[in-house]
Amino acid sequence: MTMINSAMILPFQRLSLSASLHEKMCDADRMMNAVLKNINGMGYCCLYDSKWTMVYVSEGCQALTGYEGKSFLSGHEIHMELITHPEDREYVRRTIGEAINTQQSFVAEYRIIHASGDIIWVAERGSPLYDEAGEIEAIEGVLQNITRRKLSEIAANQAEERYRSIFENAVEGIYQTTPDGSYLNFNPALVKIYGYESTNDLIQGVADINSQLYAHPKKRDEFIAIMSTHGRVVNFEAEVRRKDGEVIWISENAREVRDKEGTLLFYEGTVEDITERKNHERELEYQSNHDALTGLPNRTLLVDRLEQYIGLADRYHSKVAIAFIDLDQFKLINDSMGHHAGDELLKTMAGRLSQCVRDSDTVVRLGGDEFVLLLTGLHEIEDVAESMQRVLTSVAEPCILESRTFIISCSIGISIYPDDAKDPGALLKYADAAMYKSKQSGRNMFQFYTEELNKRLMERLDMEYRMRQAIENGEFLLHYQPKMDFATCKVCGAEALIRWQPANAPMISPASFIPIAEETGLIEEIGNYVLNEACRQAVELNTLLGEKFTIAVNVSPRQFRQTSLVSSVQAALHLSGLDPACLELEITESSLVDDTKSFIKTLHELKALGVKLAIDDFGTGYSSMAYLKDFPVDRLKIDQVFVSHLETEPSNVAILKAIIALGHSLGMRVIAEGVETAYQQAFLHGIGCDELQGYYFSKPIPMDKLEAFLQR
Ligand code: C2E
Ligand code: MG
Ligand code: MG
Repeated sequence: MTMINSAMILPFQRLSLSASLHEKMCDADRMMNAVLKNINGMGYCCLYDSKWTMVYVSEGCQALTGYEGKSFLSGHEIHMELITHPEDREYVRRTIGEAINTQQSFVAEYRIIHASGDIIWVAERGSPLYDEAGEIEAIEGVLQNITRRKLSEIAANQAEERYRSIFENAVEGIYQTTPDGSYLNFNPALVKIYGYESTNDLIQGVADINSQLYAHPKKRDEFIAIMSTHGRVVNFEAEVRRKDGEVIWISENAREVRDKEGTLLFYEGTVEDITERKNHERELEYQSNHDALTGLPNRTLLVDRLEQYIGLADRYHSKVAIAFIDLDQFKLINDSMGHHAGDELLKTMAGRLSQCVRDSDTVVRLGGDEFVLLLTGLHEIEDVAESMQRVLTSVAEPCILESRTFIISCSIGISIYPDDAKDPGALLKYADAAMYKSKQSGRNMFQFYTEELNKRLMERLDMEYRMRQAIENGEFLLHYQPKMDFATCKVCGAEALIRWQPANAPMISPASFIPIAEETGLIEEIGNYVLNEACRQAVELNTLLGEKFTIAVNVSPRQFRQTSLVSSVQAALHLSGLDPACLELEITESSLVDDTKSFIKTLHELKALGVKLAIDDFGTGYSSMAYLKDFPVDRLKIDQVFVSHLETEPSNVAILKAIIALGHSLGMRVIAEGVETAYQQAFLHGIGCDELQGYYFSKPIPMDKLEAFLQR
């Protein structure tokens, strides 16, 4: 037994120890073994040779290495160098070597391979032993199993490494900032998003986030306000200024970080560059609110803007004008010159309209050739009239399309907020109605919406509704007005004139419903009824009389332009079996206003069917005399106005004579309408008119009366 020298146990003697305990404490071997037992490892003493040959190993050896202690002693196969992990051998030798050289103790952490093949981490603490000559003799120390601690250290390092990698390689910017707006930490992505060259560059460039980063000065306040109420911001979108001055859109997600006491330490969060998405969204929004051809706001934006302007008008006690604009000749140009020219025209007009208004006003393209102007901040209605005059003038400036010059006009209708209506829908409807009115009143003008106009509009809607019912209920019928041949003083034909006889109500004159039927398109249906009914009754009349008798049917301008007119006439003839020569079509002069070429073409097609043709209401329209010779027409019907004022306006005499001469020179017969007096009859006869029609001879009468009239 090795005794511990008395100096070392002195302190214990001061305590009153039992003799047996004192003895135990003086037994150094026992003490050493007790210590070694508790270190989760082993004590050792080995030689400084290539195998670290053991001269002493303690009891823990088996538990630590899986080998019995004696296996390590000299002459055995197992040695410390062998069970040291090959990758760590060099390190162990170097560490111990240095300790020997410097005569110091050492610590080395490294791996050994347990007998079971497991890797065990050990911490070796030891010191060199020298002989009297100062040469290294042995090393003694302890080896402790630190596997558990080491593995958790490694795991922690790996996790740290992974997080660092996420931080360093993230596409999103990641940052920590002080609450007052300077960076504590950020990753390379943030540097890149903000367009800086390096970490330092960003730190120097953005010393104060509040003032240097956000494009809008109040944005950081907003960020902080959300932060302090919710402790976080989610998808916070903001515009920020990059180093080069370019403004980009970012989206931030961030949170507050507080210590245990709740003191705010810093903010941390992520930044995503969403400029591309924002641009795309903006592009989509623009597209859905603007007209692709002209780039003007479209219908969607119109209502938005109008509501906005109404709000402003309420606040500033001003007015808003809503002007509906329709180009008068668009359809004609689009149809005859093609869509390309039509598009060009619309673009030109869009540009001109935009120049006629102030920046605060809005020009909208509704579609087709319809535009709307919204004029804001008005106090005097006269200002609107002035603007509209500017629009009319600007639109009417010569316009060059495919190297041809055109003069375009437009019709404008205006409603005023709050005078005419309060809600956007009604204002738009009223402006539209006023536009319609100005179109009817001869185009190239503007018209304000009025109460009176509204009343007429309502009547028109009502009339349209009742007309549709009338078609279904068979309330339409025909009267016939006989025509007289001056030469023979005999009836030479009759004009079919439509009558509307509603049940239990007075008869309605065609003058009040034909124009509405024209506007609404109902005329096509009504026209077909007249054609078929007139043909049918003409056949009956022919049979009754036993001779040929001509019935004239009116064809309205819209009916005339309808592509199916020729085939409708053909069908009516076919269905009734009427001799085409017994049917005359009266075409009003105004039918040819828009397109003389196609007018003449249709006349020829009708003529080819064998029917007769007459120009109705001649003298009031715009027919160019130059074209008249190309019309395959049998008869000119002089408009009533020239006859009815014959007695009071002698100037009509010249016109009447001229028309008769013109008709005759082109080989046409000339008939005067609206003859009411003996004087008129005698006069017309006197100047060579061929036929007459009028109350003086007969009013329009039902078919049975006409039959009686003819048989007389
Ligand atoms: P319009 O074709 O010029 O027909 C002549 C109009 O003058 C008829 O009016 C007729 O009743 C009226 N009239 C005849 N003699 C006299 C007279 O001595 N003095 C006066 N003051 N008037 C006379 P109505 O029947 O009211 O027809 C008016 C217009 O309605 C017609 O003018 C025609 O443009 C249109 N219309 C009538 N029936 C039809 C039809 O079946 N189809 C089409 N599309 N239009 C029709
Ligand atoms: Mg007529
Ligand atoms: Mg007429």
